[in-house]
Amino acid sequence: MRKLAAGNWKMNGTGDDLDEVRALIDAAPAPKRTDIVLCAPATLIHRMGEIAMGSSVQVGGQDCHPKTAGAHTGDISAAMLREAGASFVIVGHSERRTDHRETDIIVRAKAMAGFAEWMRVILCLGETLAERQAGRTLEVVGGQLEGSLPTSFPPEIKPKDALIIAYEPVWAIGTGLTPTNDEIAEVHAFLRTALVARFGEAGQEMRLLYGGSVKPSNAAEIFALPNVDGALVGGASLKAADFSKIVQALDAA
Ligand code: PEP
Repeated sequence: MRKLAAGNWKMNGTGDDLDEVRALIDAAPAPKRTDIVLCAPATLIHRMGEIAMGSSVQVGGQDCHPKTAGAHTGDISAAMLREAGASFVIVGHSERRTDHRETDIIVRAKAMAGFAEWMRVILCLGETLAERQAGRTLEVVGGQLEGSLPTSFPPEIKPKDALIIAYEPVWAIGTGLTPTNDEIAEVHAFLRTALVARFGEAGQEMRLLYGGSVKPSNAAEIFALPNVDGALVGGASLKAADFSKIVQALDAA
């Protein structure tokens, strides 16, 4: 299975920041076992795609609307993302679940919209600090997986390639805090078992990413954990110098 280093620029970046994409391509020209994707603000997808064409870096969107088109001011469809040059899309990020009150049902519809456009979908799950402290992490994450996984896939979509799960504890995102290695390993083992129960052997080959304050200094130890097949990285993906070190740590794991 190829690993995946996914960067999430969130609402950061204007044209000047595209130099970071050029620098990343130079710093990580051809990882042996790792795919790289930068999920850009919609305004940068097209230009990023032009810069990244033919390189090791692919481009993704950060969200899509469940519908293909229509009266949804400010939203963007998977078809639009794809046309702009994205081949991945993040759905269910905790910032979307919180800021835009997205439920599992909405997240599932967005994932299905992504698959309908032949995109790879990074589906995010994760517990809040209160839920972890109440001992409810596996219940919450399991419920989100059950509630937001698509119930069917278009015939041309192979879930093992197209579906990527990102475990992102909400309290670890952008805070500098991370779960212990045992806590990450526990959730990833739980998710692996759930994916195998749902998809059979294909579930063994689905990529499971960890996300939440991944940095060059903690990447190697996180990537050494079982069932961690990559990372979804926010802050540290904005600078090529940091993100390329994370890519290298993943490729070496
Ligand atoms: C994220 O945006 O998904 C994320 C994990 O952010 P950070 O790496 O900054 O914690």
